[in-house]
Amino acid sequence: MAKFAEAEARRFHNTFVCRICKSKMKAPNMKVMQGKVSCRKCGSNKLRTVKKK
Ligand SMILES: [Zn+2]
Repeated sequence: MAKFAEAEARRFHNTFVCRICKSKMKAPNMKVMQGKVSCRKCGSNKLRTVKKK
């Protein structure tokens, strides 16, 4: 499971999309999981990976 998440993160180059304003940003996967990354535009820390299902 962790391995799968890591592989997916690598595939999308650690790029995340803000759920609120849809802006993309690059951030280390670990920091996002710890909630240390927030959107520069709206300040939200609700981020998702590029692919959504
Ligand atoms: Zn945002």
